[in-house]
Amino acid sequence: MKYAPIIGLEIHVQLKTKSKLFCSCANINEGDAEANTAICPVCTGQPGALPALNAHALELAMLAGHAMKCAIPDTAKFDRKNYFYPDLPKGYQISQFDLPVCGKGQLDITVDDENASRKEVRIGITRAHLEEDAAKNQHAPDGSSTLVDYNRGGTPLLEIVTEPDFRSPAEAKAFLQELRSIMRSIGVSDADMEKGQMRCDANISLMPLNDDGTPAQIELNPKVEVKNLNSFKAVERALAYEIERQTDLYDTNTPPLQSTRGWDENRGVTTDQRSKEGSADYRYFPEPDLPPVNLKEIRDMMRSKLPELPGSTRRRLQEEYGFSEANAAFLVANEGWTGYAEHVMSELAEWIGSDKAEDQKASLAKLTGGWLTSKLAGFLTEMNRTIREVNVTPENFAEFIKILHQGEINSANGQKLLRLMIEHGADPSHLMEEHNLGQNMDENELRVVVERLIAENPAQVEQYKSGNEKILMWFVGGAMKATEGKANPEAVKELAKKIIG
Ligand code: ZN
Ligand code: MN
Repeated sequence: MKYAPIIGLEIHVQLKTKSKLFCSCANINEGDAEANTAICPVCTGQPGALPALNAHALELAMLAGHAMKCAIPDTAKFDRKNYFYPDLPKGYQISQFDLPVCGKGQLDITVDDENASRKEVRIGITRAHLEEDAAKNQHAPDGSSTLVDYNRGGTPLLEIVTEPDFRSPAEAKAFLQELRSIMRSIGVSDADMEKGQMRCDANISLMPLNDDGTPAQIELNPKVEVKNLNSFKAVERALAYEIERQTDLYDTNTPPLQSTRGWDENRGVTTDQRSKEGSADYRYFPEPDLPPVNLKEIRDMMRSKLPELPGSTRRRLQEEYGFSEANAAFLVANEGWTGYAEHVMSELAEWIGSDKAEDQKASLAKLTGGWLTSKLAGFLTEMNRTIREVNVTPENFAEFIKILHQGEINSANGQKLLRLMIEHGADPSHLMEEHNLGQNMDENELRVVVERLIAENPAQVEQYKSGNEKILMWFVGGAMKATEGKANPEAVKELAKKIIG
């Protein structure tokens, strides 16, 4: 039997506020402060302490809601979700049950995977609600004791729940990457999964398919929830593992029951945790210490503050400048690069002339995109610097592209020149002259080099004579080596052809 995976996600995003959700303690990351120093009577659940809602957290939730095209109601309220655990000192979590801050929405994603059966996918957002995080248990490695750090207790989270709209692990991963990109670009969260600022639970069931690929039943099979996936790779691997595991269970007539599982990164398997509570077990009831929240004003104010979203920026980079889809994706995914690239393109139009630049838009964008995203980005990674710290001005980078575009330097020396630009922060034409990197060889000098190559390599000459045109590139390589890259490839080819005859 064939099956299609039906996948939904629940994502907790840590909001980038100064203080916690219901008190004025600092909202810090693990390791940023000594344990139990960012705490107060409210976030440690002392009797009589009263919560007060952090207005900035509400603003960020509204911004995220608009970015996901969520319907935002006029009123929201908070509820107590009751359960006992040492990391939850009050014995309940303040969350939202039936009136969350964000209702139904949607997010469009592009799946960048050759084997993907769907490339453009619309994922429904079921809801998103505000809630406080729990504290952090630290278990001694030998299992003898557990310590609790309450610094994280009460920090603000936005829990985003999706519809079961994903049909492959790759789609789930693409969604999370897009969500991270959005949260960062609108300043709602740093959304770094490794740091726990974005955490994902995934639920998955299998739908049996008829031979023609249509669903063989109407109702969904029991779903398995995989908890606490803390990297994109973990999400992808855990879901792939579950597809295989559940397929085996159906094929052997022992179908899976609804359950919760954990992901064991080292062994690459999911493991049984506990049977899932229904929401009735939490005995949700309205939080008596917080009044319902009127969202009307703040909702409209934040709508007007929503900046351009990554998807629109990617489209704009492609349409306006001619960047490839992959280059545009890189520029948007990496902080600071979009602005830099746009600045380079406008300076480039100055260098080349805007009419000419428009005519050669495609080739200029290809050249610039390649040198930005592979060479410049590569050098910066190597030097452990960000684009914000680079001392190559967009104007100098644009001049560098102009030099390449006009064939004044070859690609190998271009790389040397770019490195010098990063090291010295000087403009490329001066550096090129100073370090003699241009293709400024005298034709007679070049002829000597090519003649020697021909004299010393009769085998290659023979190959050319017997019709192998490609062997000319071998001569180009040899001439480049002999001249330390100053030879112009076209000139070498022409000379070689002429001399061999
Ligand atoms: Zn506090
Ligand atoms: Mn939650």
